[in-house]
Amino acid sequence: MANSIHLLPDHIANQIAAGEVIQRPASAVKELLENAVDAGASEIKLMINDAGKALIQVIDNGKGMNPIDAQNAFARHATSKISAIEDLFQIRTMGFRGEALASIAAVAQVSLKTRQIEDELGTSVEIENSQVSETSPVACPVGTSISMKNLFFNVPARRNFLKSNSAELKHIIEEFTRVALAFPEIYFSFTNNGQDVFHWEAGSFKQRAIHVLGNSYQTKLVAVGEKTDYLTISGFVGKPETAKKTRSDQYFFVNRRFIKSAYLHHAIANAFDGLIPKENFPSYILYIDVDPSQVDINVHPTKQEIKFEDDKIIYAFVQAAVKHALAQFSIAPSLDFSLDANIQQLDAIQKPISDEQRSSTASSSLYAGFTQKNQAHFIPRTSEAERTAWKSFFSDIPSSDDQSNQSNGNGSSNDGFIVKSSSMGLYQEKQGVGVNEDAVLLQINNTYIIAPVGPGMIMVHQQLAHERVLYEKYQKASIQPHATQKSLFPVVLELSVADAILLEEIIEDLAIIGYEIEPFGQNSFIIQGIPADVNAGNEKNAIELLLEQFKHFSGDIKFSKREKIIRCMARQSAIKAGQTLSQKEMHSLIESLFNCDTPNVTASGAPTYIDFKEGYLDNLFSK
Ligand code: ADP
Ligand code: MG
Repeated sequence: MANSIHLLPDHIANQIAAGEVIQRPASAVKELLENAVDAGASEIKLMINDAGKALIQVIDNGKGMNPIDAQNAFARHATSKISAIEDLFQIRTMGFRGEALASIAAVAQVSLKTRQIEDELGTSVEIENSQVSETSPVACPVGTSISMKNLFFNVPARRNFLKSNSAELKHIIEEFTRVALAFPEIYFSFTNNGQDVFHWEAGSFKQRAIHVLGNSYQTKLVAVGEKTDYLTISGFVGKPETAKKTRSDQYFFVNRRFIKSAYLHHAIANAFDGLIPKENFPSYILYIDVDPSQVDINVHPTKQEIKFEDDKIIYAFVQAAVKHALAQFSIAPSLDFSLDANIQQLDAIQKPISDEQRSSTASSSLYAGFTQKNQAHFIPRTSEAERTAWKSFFSDIPSSDDQSNQSNGNGSSNDGFIVKSSSMGLYQEKQGVGVNEDAVLLQINNTYIIAPVGPGMIMVHQQLAHERVLYEKYQKASIQPHATQKSLFPVVLELSVADAILLEEIIEDLAIIGYEIEPFGQNSFIIQGIPADVNAGNEKNAIELLLEQFKHFSGDIKFSKREKIIRCMARQSAIKAGQTLSQKEMHSLIESLFNCDTPNVTASGAPTYIDFKEGYLDNLFSK
């Protein structure tokens, strides 16, 4: 039989790989511009024809390549930027994977002319289908000129996939703008079909920002600038009047690399809270500089996401810096926040990074991209130590006996037939109650559920019953931590001093039942995750309510902190009286109730249901 596995010819393998790096003309533009930047150019010219479909050419006056490098540059994984794995952690160049030129050479007809200052003659290289077809010495200026013609000429499927010229041009302008904003010290020009599109002299960051945003921004930018040992932030935010209905003019750079980050965007939007209408977006051009070992640089070249070693600090820092800037320009009141007091206190900012720390973060960050921790849905497990602490904690909560004693006083009409659940022996109920799966349940006043049980019936109070169910569920979280759902856009909570202190106190206990809350800034907290069974979107209210209820319990020293939290949570999250329930919901509520260890009372002793025995009903109708 013929073998069916065979190795792909190089040029096909290259084409496939190229697809990841070069998706459209704009991706090639980005790669070529970045290479020119990496080469130390002070002038970079971009020329395109036909929105880059016919021609993309980048000319720089950087350091150029010698004849050997000029040919090697197009090999896959050819890079001059790293030679050892450690280099990855100190990457300051835009590229380092050595994939761009190889990819471009696989999908376009490329010609390169380059010369180093020490050489009299430069080198010219022609490449098609990843094959060098010609090299020769050539007279040319110092620097590099690369042109690529007929992108995807050999991959028609991809070529057909390209959008209209105006759409592709828009992408190119976007990439061009991003690189130009990151490097204002470099002169950039851009021509399309021979026509001048941009022409930006080298200058300051502010000048470049004005180039990009337009002259009208001359008086509409607010400078942002904060510096710590850990990181530096600089750049501009538009005054509130420049806020737009669209997300244009939002630029974030980390170590001069454009990134997209909903998370950091959120930090900025937060700083603008109350200053611009809710549906508007602030404009900003912000630059963060941080030790390269603090960011996961192992991002794919075409991706713009970034992973910080400690993104909460960055979030807090960005937000505070923007607030601070707005305040200094008297755009926002400066009373209620202070960068220095809070952010500066954070260890990571206070202490310079030690070599030890650096190497430990370095060794982890390479793999960070591959570990499950970076998956959005990853739920960290509570540590063993935490779990034990949590368990022992429960050994001192009031026992169920106490509770039943307590609730005995609740009074039942002791006629022997009608029995309030709270006054029944604790062990009977579990076996005693069985609601037929097919039974039709009746909800009265959207509060009481009537369920036939044997020849009698029970009337369940939906809210109190659910409170019991949740109470036991949260209690059990001590053994198996409650699942957390990570918030996509963490919500920030700003509290009064008193509430902040209170929340601080119970933050760890909340974690066990699924609330992931972290302090940041003065009396502010960020809610990163909420219990899996709490509705997202309402977390702010939920916490505020929880604190409110918690305060009511505060005088009650009988209960431990955790017991109080669990009680509050159960009360708060329970289905409310007045809520219409479906048959399915009622059945499942009753089933969960009777799966409880103590189904008959709430934690505070209120009955959860009333049992109407057969005789009681008969009695009612006797003469
Ligand atoms: P990377 O940028 O990831 O190293 P590239 O495929 O983009 O990989 O480039 C390969 C190599 O070619 C670079 O490392 C660099 O040495 C060289 N090179 C590419 N473009 C230029 C340029 N404009 N000027 C000088 N050298 C360049
Ligand atoms: Mg590159």
